[in-house]
Amino acid sequence: MDSIDHFEELSKAIAKTIEEHIARSKNSAGWPQELKHPVLRVDAFLEDQGPDHDQDTTPSRPLQVASSTIDLAPIFRARSTQRATDQEPRGETSARSSGDESEPGSPRRRGVGKLRVANTQSFEEDVTEHQRQIATDTRNFPKRRKIASDKFVFRPSTLDKLIIGIWEQLHGTLDLNPQIISEQYNMTLPVSSSTPVINEDTAVEIRGAGPALQTDAFHRMNTLCRKVTQASRVCRSIEIVVQAKWIELFEDKVQTSIAAAPHISKTKHHKQAFVEACQDFGWSEKELRNKIAIWRGYREVKDAAGWVALVFAGMGIYRFCKYRVEFTKEAMKRLQNLRTRFEVAADTLQPHWRQLLSIIGESSRLQYAGHPHDWVVSEDGAQPVLLRSTYLEREPFFEFEQLEESIIDEREWRGEDPRWVPQSSAVVRANGNSTYVCAVCDQTQSDEPALNSCYCFPNLFGCVKRRPPPVQIYRTNKGQNNGLLALAPFERGAGIGEFVGLITKGVRHVDVMDSATATTNYQIWQGRQGNFTRFINHSCKANAQFSQFTWLDTQHVVLVSKGIEAGVEISVDYGDRYWAGLDKSCLCGESCCRYRRAHR
Ligand SMILES: [Zn+2]
Ligand SMILES: [Zn+2]
Repeated sequence: MDSIDHFEELSKAIAKTIEEHIARSKNSAGWPQELKHPVLRVDAFLEDQGPDHDQDTTPSRPLQVASSTIDLAPIFRARSTQRATDQEPRGETSARSSGDESEPGSPRRRGVGKLRVANTQSFEEDVTEHQRQIATDTRNFPKRRKIASDKFVFRPSTLDKLIIGIWEQLHGTLDLNPQIISEQYNMTLPVSSSTPVINEDTAVEIRGAGPALQTDAFHRMNTLCRKVTQASRVCRSIEIVVQAKWIELFEDKVQTSIAAAPHISKTKHHKQAFVEACQDFGWSEKELRNKIAIWRGYREVKDAAGWVALVFAGMGIYRFCKYRVEFTKEAMKRLQNLRTRFEVAADTLQPHWRQLLSIIGESSRLQYAGHPHDWVVSEDGAQPVLLRSTYLEREPFFEFEQLEESIIDEREWRGEDPRWVPQSSAVVRANGNSTYVCAVCDQTQSDEPALNSCYCFPNLFGCVKRRPPPVQIYRTNKGQNNGLLALAPFERGAGIGEFVGLITKGVRHVDVMDSATATTNYQIWQGRQGNFTRFINHSCKANAQFSQFTWLDTQHVVLVSKGIEAGVEISVDYGDRYWAGLDKSCLCGESCCRYRRAHR
């Protein structure tokens, strides 16, 4: 494989250099002008000249290392019509690597051999694949900024992309429910009462209907489109899972036949199973061999990170397994450590996913029930434990209710929300409803996405639906009990989540968030209720901060990223007031640590 690649690369490089030289050089006098279709054939050989560089010593058998045919016709044509040669489309003048023995000057198509066609094809294939690779890179990380961190940082590589891709799928909106496949065929788009159903092929006719029906049809089309997209994703996941399982069965079959007839060589057993498969698939041996190479990759990823990785890997896994750039022991170890963490996210966020496994006879029973943040995971791949269990030693009656939004402590506030901040510049509309204007961006705020123009924290406020952020609560190894891990990167300025809990006052000597409007002091307490923001540790070199943000005249506390890479712990600076008089030493471990107590 390697020598063929080198052969093609060298042929390509030589052809390109010569082609550029001819195109650049103004002087074409001396070239035979009578040729109908001139091509320049270039062959390069590697040979031994002997120890004393003597031309007369018998050289060793020369080894052909490059061969190209350069099409001169477009260059000559351009010359004769006095046009600039460099305006020719590249495809016209591109070099063709060639392995045939046709004479120089003969029409290019005459001596086209099998080898030559194959070479040309694979050369073109490589180029498009390379282009796709670059496009995907820029799409995945459009505005990412490099953040220096003392902690482990994901290297920009294929494995990182695969892992981040899985986390993003897990936290995405696409529901991998196998039921969706059968549902899409039952989807109907009614046009009017007289024609009750219409399928997607004729959906375009809806344009003739009235405005109300059009809206209805548009809405239905959106639903149909979403469902088909989901169904296609489900099929893709099933495909990868089945292909990985096939590899397992294939290897089992080979092992069984070796055991049954040990006197026959392993290669023969392997070949026999392989040929049998080719017949069942109706594929050539080459086709199946190429596919098996990739499917083996799926199986290796599955062995390390479990079926969950295959189900949520999406398209990225194909390239990961095709190029095998990072199929190292360390990579597989990293995937192994992620296995239970993927499963916690999948079971709690996408509880239908295990049903996809029933097609290969695996159990579809969920292992991790409840809310994703009811579980504490571990970076070394240890079994996740229930959040409650990590507190029982210190607080035997520990309980924690996961909240989406803060709740008001009625005993303290009697139906009032202390976070209310009526704006002085409220714009009152004709119908008497005031318009909420964002103090940060000056745009209109609304819970109705169509009316909202404030995109200060688009994933938290004014969005269709708040989605769970890609974070996990994990067991730290620095003695800080639990901490919060970023699963995907959060760019600087992005809102990670809201600090929610019980809106109260008068809480003392326990961890609590102090906040205030211009007129009222209040506290947000997360002792019994709240969300993941409770588990963020302090760091003297924090990568996130809590900021106040007013949405619809109500003040909120938002966790804002200062630039966070995937895989690092999210931290905030609790501030001097928190540490004042506290008999506790900071465990952040930063060289700039301000609260390290020597006596502890
Ligand atoms: Zn805004
Ligand atoms: Zn510190």
